[in-house]
Amino acid sequence: MTSSPDTSSSNAPVIGLVSLGCPKALVDSERILTTLRAQGYQFSPHYQGADLVIVNTCGFIDSAKAESLDAIGEAISENGRVIVTGCLGVEEDMIRTTHPRVLAVTGPQQYEQVVNAVHAAAPPKHDPYLDLVPEQGLKLTPRHYSYLKISEGCSNRCSFCIIPSIRGDLVSRPMANVLYEAERLVAAGTRELLVISQDTSAYGQDLRYATSRFRGRDVRARFFDMCEELGQLGAWVRLHYVYPYPHVDGVIDLMADGRILPYLDIPFQHAAPDVLRAMRRPANQEKTLERIGKWRRTCPDLAIRSTFIVGFPGETEDDFERLLDWIEEAGIDRAGCFTFEPVAGARANRLENQIPEPLKKERFERLMQKAQEISIRRLSRRVGRTIDVLVDDVDPLENQATGRSKWDAPDVDGVVVVEGASNVKPGDMIRARITDSDAYDLFGFMEGGQP
Ligand code: SF4
Repeated sequence: MTSSPDTSSSNAPVIGLVSLGCPKALVDSERILTTLRAQGYQFSPHYQGADLVIVNTCGFIDSAKAESLDAIGEAISENGRVIVTGCLGVEEDMIRTTHPRVLAVTGPQQYEQVVNAVHAAAPPKHDPYLDLVPEQGLKLTPRHYSYLKISEGCSNRCSFCIIPSIRGDLVSRPMANVLYEAERLVAAGTRELLVISQDTSAYGQDLRYATSRFRGRDVRARFFDMCEELGQLGAWVRLHYVYPYPHVDGVIDLMADGRILPYLDIPFQHAAPDVLRAMRRPANQEKTLERIGKWRRTCPDLAIRSTFIVGFPGETEDDFERLLDWIEEAGIDRAGCFTFEPVAGARANRLENQIPEPLKKERFERLMQKAQEISIRRLSRRVGRTIDVLVDDVDPLENQATGRSKWDAPDVDGVVVVEGASNVKPGDMIRARITDSDAYDLFGFMEGGQP
């Protein structure tokens, strides 16, 4: 085995490593060791002293493949618990046929997957006195809610946006990586997972919905599967940046069953067909209103948040009024609005019929007015209900807690102000009877005693 310092004196899990192949594979091994060491793992140069052995393989030529298979076989007979990674990992079927007992197989440069496989087979032991970084990593959000990024980049080409040229096309994280991270966050106190990306409903398309191993089973990188899996972790799951593709219909059933929050953040941006075409928006379909109607019939509690751009080049008064009518008909619960601004490098800057600034501002005001009317109406329907509230903030002198309902995302939506909330702390889930509402917020009293 590769000689690495024998640090097996503590009771942290101990890893052995066999590194084969070229210097590039050696650097990969070093990265894996560095990551594991930072997480508290110890290393052993002996098969017998290790909780498991990682074999970093080479698959360059047939003799290197044979050497890798032999090394896997030796590690299995000497230790029994083996994770295979590296170039030969692309031939998973062949490895599993030859050595059915391997715990996991990952390919070259899949550091995150190797580390996840190690976590699954020999979970890290967090030592709060020695570790510099908490188990869930460093967070900028409060302990009780966390953003969960499922992919990078975007394969759409909206004409006003330069994100794809900055961040590239969609690159989804393997499902197991997403789930392991979500699990760690929940174990560390997260009660609400906010799923984010540039296009959440496109999750996994770039991977062709490939499977990865999570807790000894295959999980598929697909939007619906991800929602279903996250819904089993015991935390609220809130979906941001979803587009109204037909396959989104399936997750509405999960919402209706209470498995994920009945909340969709869909940046519609506009409703007039000509403007949407000029914007080159994804999932731009005539039947979006029909789709929303169907969603609301399946899940009457659904809240839809959206953002809109007004004053896009070529937007006529008719287009704008169509947008206002559409927002009304769709019953958009929460709306944000921007006036169109040219971003350096965006194609929309070159479109004809740019809208004068005063007209953009006027449309902005009109849209926000309409959005507020709808919000007032829709929030008033919540009065009289008793709902769960996730507490964000507490004023102990006033016995008042401020939190959010399942219809409110942090920072962008409204809040629920709860009176009579004694002995409550941020992160508690309390029950509140709603007695009043205004344009954006709900007000009520705590029910059911202490959380
Ligand atoms: S606006 Fe969103 S969907 Fe469109 S290209 Fe930019 S990141 Fe992608």
